[in-house]
Amino acid sequence: MTFLARVVRFLFWLLVVSWSVWLLRRVFGWMLQNAASAPMRGEDAAASPQTSGSSRRLVRDPVCGMHVDETLSIPMREGGELLHFCSIACRDAYTGGTKKFVASA
Ligand SMILES: [Zn+2]
Repeated sequence: MTFLARVVRFLFWLLVVSWSVWLLRRVFGWMLQNAASAPMRGEDAAASPQTSGSSRRLVRDPVCGMHVDETLSIPMREGGELLHFCSIACRDAYTGGTKKFVASA
């Protein structure tokens, strides 16, 4: 009888621990999601480029519309503004789209 009670208690604690772990993972996942989506919302409003001090700023690729980390993006100066691309392919697509084979003659 005592053995059975011990097993039941063990199973009960196992359930409690696994449930709390699941709850913690959910809470952490929710917090991480909030942290990741917060700078993306402020991106459109804060279009000024002088934010060298802040870390991890998201920039928008004008070709595919993807949001990329500024440190991972491929920058290109076009006229007065600095553009950011997610990949070299997107940058080439942008430059190929603007300069339409002027040199061919
Ligand atoms: Zn892209």
